[in-house]
Amino acid sequence: MLNDLKFESKSIYSDQPDINNIKPSLTPVYNNAAFYYDTAEEIENIFAGRDFGFLYSRISNPTILSFEKKLSNLENGIGCIATSSGMAAITTTLLALLQKDNEIICSKNLFGGTIELFNNVLSKFGITIKYVNITDIDEIKNAITENTKLIFFETISNPNLIIPDICGIVNLAKKNNIPVIVDSTVTTPYLFNGKKFGVSIVIHSTTKYITGNSSIIGGALIDTGNYDWTNYNNPDVKKFAQRFGHFAFISHAKKYIYQNIGVSPAPFNVYLQNLGIETLALRMEKHSANALKLAEFLTFHKNVKKVYYPLLDKEQIKYVKKYFNNLGGGIVSFELENKEAAFKFINNLKLAKNMTNIGDTRTLVLHPASTIFADFSSENKIIAGAYDNLVRVSVGLENINDIINDFERGLNKN
Ligand SMILES: *Cc1c(COP(=O)(O)O)cnc(C)c1O
Repeated sequence: MLNDLKFESKSIYSDQPDINNIKPSLTPVYNNAAFYYDTAEEIENIFAGRDFGFLYSRISNPTILSFEKKLSNLENGIGCIATSSGMAAITTTLLALLQKDNEIICSKNLFGGTIELFNNVLSKFGITIKYVNITDIDEIKNAITENTKLIFFETISNPNLIIPDICGIVNLAKKNNIPVIVDSTVTTPYLFNGKKFGVSIVIHSTTKYITGNSSIIGGALIDTGNYDWTNYNNPDVKKFAQRFGHFAFISHAKKYIYQNIGVSPAPFNVYLQNLGIETLALRMEKHSANALKLAEFLTFHKNVKKVYYPLLDKEQIKYVKKYFNNLGGGIVSFELENKEAAFKFINNLKLAKNMTNIGDTRTLVLHPASTIFADFSSENKIIAGAYDNLVRVSVGLENINDIINDFERGLNKN
């Protein structure tokens, strides 16, 4: 029944473990490290995989499972693993798919933490990372070798808001039997359904829009069911494919990686995510509507040199229509005269908060070049779009007139 519901309904209802016939409307916080059984036989059967049961919360927990089922259902996936952070979801996915001497192809335009994970951790374990211009299909094609194990990119990158031709990349990957991993944090399952467009695995930092109010750190990965893991050239995934078939990736990622690196989220944090996601559809509509109005206002302001917003870009608007249900999302970036002007603008604001995250009910601003990208070389800052004169905005849910008034004050005051 739950699978047949529309998006808004799916984000409210999910399967819950039935415990002693108590029926709470929202899965409560099972804040336990471990769960007991009356007999040795019961616990033996759970360990052997003959029965399902909760044992230890690093491995599984009722609050976490309920959220995983909901998010998987929203993505039309075959399985989901909720993790302690977005970075943990990316790490779990990559450790499950890679071994030494493998290569990965990824976009030059990624979240700063992801690039640091690739460069400072993965590369130390014999993984070669090939960064490409993700809007250039030929460049991706030329980067593929027989050792390429996956292609990784973001639906909408920030701060420069690049949207790749997702279907073009998926088609290329299919021809070469390579899974496509997409970080959909900025688009959420409401704007983008990875399953529909052939993506293999979708990743979210649930810290952002899915929870919606900067209350917790969390992440998730979802197997869409599009990729046939029985054909994936990795000995562990092959081993799991013999027993679990289509579920080879998710069972391998869970049993060999997630459990062993210890990235289970705190049940209370997952409870807040489960609460937040109930209103995801409503919020993404409003974030997108507010962002469009703010981007339009900025376009006409005399002190603003350039505005980045997918719905205002002639090239990208076709992708917004095709992939994102015609919604541009909540991130807007813009260029001012120079760094001093950007700092002055941020310091002049009274309502919007100067913060490093995105996806909050509040409007957030940041100067990426001096913060998230501070350690990057000047050349890499330019590639990332973290220009010295650029301000990134995560547009919140306040009344748009209050946001525009605040920005007007910030831009006009000397
Ligand atoms: C925030 C973010 C991440 C990392 O998520 P955390 O929850 O901070 O670990 C990854 N990708 C994108 C696009 C993000 O915005």
